[in-house]
Amino acid sequence: MIIEPRTRGFICLTSHPSGCEENVKNQIEYIKSKGKIEGAKKVLVIGSSTGFGLASRITSAFGSDAATIGVFFDKPGTEGRPGSPGFYNTAAFEKEAHAAGLYAKSINGDAFSNEIKEEVINLIKEDLGQIDLVIYSLASPVRTHPVSGKRFKSVLKPIGGEFSNKTVDFHTGKVSEISIKPAEGEDIENTVTVMGGEDWKMWMDALKAENLLSEGATTVAYSYIGPSLTEAVYRKGTIGAAKDHLEATAFTISDDLKSIGGKAYVSVNKALVTQASSAIPVIPLYISLLFKVMKEKGIHEGCIEQIQRLYSERLYGGDIALDDKGRIRIDDWEMREDVQSEIAELWKTATSENLSEIGDLEGYSNDFFNLFGFKVEGVDYNADVNEVVKVPSIS
Ligand code: NAD
Repeated sequence: MIIEPRTRGFICLTSHPSGCEENVKNQIEYIKSKGKIEGAKKVLVIGSSTGFGLASRITSAFGSDAATIGVFFDKPGTEGRPGSPGFYNTAAFEKEAHAAGLYAKSINGDAFSNEIKEEVINLIKEDLGQIDLVIYSLASPVRTHPVSGKRFKSVLKPIGGEFSNKTVDFHTGKVSEISIKPAEGEDIENTVTVMGGEDWKMWMDALKAENLLSEGATTVAYSYIGPSLTEAVYRKGTIGAAKDHLEATAFTISDDLKSIGGKAYVSVNKALVTQASSAIPVIPLYISLLFKVMKEKGIHEGCIEQIQRLYSERLYGGDIALDDKGRIRIDDWEMREDVQSEIAELWKTATSENLSEIGDLEGYSNDFFNLFGFKVEGVDYNADVNEVVKVPSIS
């Protein structure tokens, strides 16, 4: 079929298999171009199909020749109906990994559930024996708790008071004022239950109990901080409460892993256009200004550049450089004083009329469509493409 983008707000309902494949190939080429990394050889990535998780899987496989198991939650394409990008990305990743002689298997299902944890455990027992590195990169709006069976929803709200600021509709470039009502009822607890560290710890407990973690095994989860401009809705909002919990959980997991000489880290990454971040009000305007400033300074990075730097310089580069709260800071260039002061000035003047000039609205929009395999260079979008694509390891 011919597949075109069909958007509804910050969601794109279609995705393009060839565009997704090209994106994955481009990321692989980037990693190969940067040379080998003396990293982990057996890697489990939870949330492996898009964004930072996909970049981590690619970096492990093509930077360190690692065997990878990926867990994700995506829809395969069916006749006449394209699947979600993570499915096409995973199909392309496995194809490339297998061609390069690398072990790569994937499990599509709810990582929060006991069933999927069990499936992964059995696969590790059968195929890899033990795991050296666990990347935890889930971003989900909902979680069904495996013990109570209750379904929790996360929300993106400020805490303590209404928050008003500018935002942009990145499809039209219209800058407007947005007000977000504060968290109420169980909003905070629910968001912490979905995006906090409980599930990460459950994964690590389950792997350790089955003796599936190698001596010195490491686990890394991803977090975000961001500037004061977005603080009310992000770091001091409901999602920030979840990130506080995730970051605190790293210490608990590190204690648990002491007996095998293992360690848990949180890496604070840069703000990027992913399916998760497009959904947060105010963030798209911030990102479009951030991209403009960072591109002008020659320090812009995407997911793959971020993770390549995380692995090569911090995790396996000899200088992990933790901050005063014990976190890895790969958002260091985003948070540079010169970058942030320029954004703060631009923010004051940003309007619908000048945003395409003072911000990188085009870059934002392109990145958004790229997530779904659209507007990718070298792809013929007029060509007929098969929407039903198989992930080799998934029958
Ligand atoms: P993303 O939406 O691109 O990827 C999320 C991944 O999780 C996908 O592979 C998806 O299939 C998987 N997933 C979601 N629900 C699942 C479930 N129930 N079971 C199994 N898999 C599931 O997200 P992202 O932006 O790459 O975010 C990953 C992490 O990085 C998050 O913790 C996020 O907070 C953090 N982070 C994001 C940014 C940013 O700007 N995007 C910045 C810093 C940190």
